[in-house]
Amino acid sequence: MDRKALFRERFGRIVALLGYKFSPDEELVNDLLDAEVELERRYGAPYCPCQGRTGVRSEDMRIVCPCIPYHRAHYDAMKRCWCGLYVHQDVDDPDALTQIPLSELDL
Ligand code: SF4
Repeated sequence: MDRKALFRERFGRIVALLGYKFSPDEELVNDLLDAEVELERRYGAPYCPCQGRTGVRSEDMRIVCPCIPYHRAHYDAMKRCWCGLYVHQDVDDPDALTQIPLSELDL
């Protein structure tokens, strides 16, 4: 099993326990998983393709995919993770969901 297939299988199991699933947008999922495979190859972990690393390991571990447990309230409010790789299990149309900065949410 290659890394991308492994991520798909392993991450899918983890996020299912959190009430999420992969986005139905298969092209987006493929692109983001490809990016994570490359980030792992370069930097040693499948960091988020959509969030910048700080260089401080303890901080950066909070954006290793799937980062949902660290940002649960924020992502639950959007019904998606920041990249949109994962959506809530009841979401059929990911295009109806948008990124909302944490500062704009009343959490
Ligand atoms: S925002 Fe989504 S794709 Fe990015 S690390 Fe978090 S869970 Fe993974």
